[in-house]
Amino acid sequence: MTTREYIREADENLLHTYNRYSIVLEKGEGVYLYDTDGNRYLDFAAGIAVFAFGYNNKSYNEALKEQIDKIIHTSNLYYNIPAADAAKKLTRLSGLDRVFFTNSGTEAIEGAIKTARKYAYDKDGHTDHEIIAMEHSFHGRSMGALSVTGNAKYREAFQPLIGGVKFAEFNDLESVKSLVTDKTCAIILEPVQGEGGIYPASPEFITGVRKICDEKDILLIFDEIQCGMGRTGTMFAHEAYGVKPDILTLAKALGCGIPVGAFLTTEKAAALVPGDHGTTYGGNPLAAAAVNRVLELFETTDILDHVHQVSGYLEQQLDMLAAEVDCVKSHRGKGLMQGIILNRPAGDVVTKAMERGLLVITAGSNVLRLVPPLIITKQHVDEMIEKLKAALSD
Ligand SMILES: *Cc1c(COP(=O)(O)O)cnc(C)c1O
Repeated sequence: MTTREYIREADENLLHTYNRYSIVLEKGEGVYLYDTDGNRYLDFAAGIAVFAFGYNNKSYNEALKEQIDKIIHTSNLYYNIPAADAAKKLTRLSGLDRVFFTNSGTEAIEGAIKTARKYAYDKDGHTDHEIIAMEHSFHGRSMGALSVTGNAKYREAFQPLIGGVKFAEFNDLESVKSLVTDKTCAIILEPVQGEGGIYPASPEFITGVRKICDEKDILLIFDEIQCGMGRTGTMFAHEAYGVKPDILTLAKALGCGIPVGAFLTTEKAAALVPGDHGTTYGGNPLAAAAVNRVLELFETTDILDHVHQVSGYLEQQLDMLAAEVDCVKSHRGKGLMQGIILNRPAGDVVTKAMERGLLVITAGSNVLRLVPPLIITKQHVDEMIEKLKAALSD
């Protein structure tokens, strides 16, 4: 079949919830992707911050192949070795105590919300607890995750959503304080907002929110589905702030391509007990084997140092780009999670970059989002800048 035929077939049969770009991706190698017409793309999107160690990573592929030949699925009615190993690694790396594996980020958020509600219910027996979420946040598309997502356009048609959610201004401590009541059971935020436009939290904000939570026994949920897993230069973004959450959500690069997420809790916040929550696939041996190998790669390589170095270089180059190119206003972000602020629509630039062999994505209408594989080198940064300049001057 030709590329055009693949696309027609997909458009005839898939539910039209995405306006897809007109390329069909077929294979990948390192930080490059190839389409069905043989075109090569430098990938600064990584499947939306997923492929931390690049495409066709031999060590990762081997781990999956070995596990496929043993057992792929058991259900959570029984124990399995990869899940036990992966949970042990995650608690060690995060300093949290308990792990629940899910199939996606949005499910990790569901689990975090249920945990917070149950924790508060256990304390006072009431069912009227409130959650404070942030404007411009993104936590997923299921009804619970959507309820805490700070984008009215995403929520509108699906109301009524879960009740008791209030939205505070991100990085505005007074705005959070003004919403806290005796019924507040959780505050949820992304330490670096992704989808909403790449906004890092200020240290004062994160520290201040932690303090409010400590004073009022409110659970602090950090959604690190996008900003976690080494992307900002530390294993988890919150480490750089010196602030620990009560609940942490992960997905995207946790499985590096195998669909898996997780929510982690402290022992104190581990309010869910048998009968409260479950999943058929979550943390199955195949998914857990992926998590295991990904965490091993973090522990046995110098990837975090590498992210520090290459992101320093990337930021320099983005500074220069902003100085040189008129339609680039500035950039913001942390590590290898950067937003380029344009004074023209970012969507056009994405298409023009794609035509020049560069994949980037947007975060809001005028922000280009760069979330490349963590293994990119300075040469890849140079190549990206060159292609992006060409796209921007078009
Ligand atoms: C992608 C994302 C989600 C949703 O994860 P899915 O795996 O798409 O369900 C939630 N929170 C953040 C911060 C995300 O970036």
